[in-house]
Amino acid sequence: MAKILIVEDERAINDLIKFNLELVGHECAQVFDGAAGLNEAMKFKYDLIILDVMLPEYSGFDIMEYIEGTPVIFVTARSAPQDKIKGLRLGADDYITKPFDIVELVERVKAVLRRTHADVGCFEFDDIRVEFDNRRVYKNGAEISLKPREFDLLEVLVNNRNLALSREKLLQLVWEFDYEGDTRTVDVHIQRLRQKLGIADRLQTVYKTGYRLEI
Ligand code: CA
Repeated sequence: MAKILIVEDERAINDLIKFNLELVGHECAQVFDGAAGLNEAMKFKYDLIILDVMLPEYSGFDIMEYIEGTPVIFVTARSAPQDKIKGLRLGADDYITKPFDIVELVERVKAVLRRTHADVGCFEFDDIRVEFDNRRVYKNGAEISLKPREFDLLEVLVNNRNLALSREKLLQLVWEFDYEGDTRTVDVHIQRLRQKLGIADRLQTVYKTGYRLEI
């Protein structure tokens, strides 16, 4: 997957981001102040930089002035609209304010990587191959027919693999906010994915929470 630099001085947040991005298969480097962030961003080619704004030595906005060609997501406690506008004007691809939902961060990382083509268009595990661009799924080389929502659900599960996702979160990510249905819809679609793809052992129920695709 992608090589991601995390520039964040709060160690707990930096670690949390790293932990979750690595769970879904990315490779992360961590730095904890502005000078190290600038140095690292200049020295190595990353697919994406997660950049805090308020940092010791140089701010995220300062660092952004020097970054060319690498996508950036600002993650910051500064939620004022003028800060967001400044961040996006400087060329950031996205702007997330703290406190943030880690699943949302993982999704936004995925979205930016897809936009910037740093991410691969398919994902394979066991005998399953998922092609995101043409929305096709194969098992042992034979195409498996999925309904649009089943594919959407599989895509969210793959993108957030190894993370426990609540039924509510899945409803939100797959059916989006306008959906008025209940969480049993999620259960039904999970069941269908398990049956159609034969992934019952991978697609696990998380007690009292929801589901997790374990890979
Ligand atoms: Ca900070």
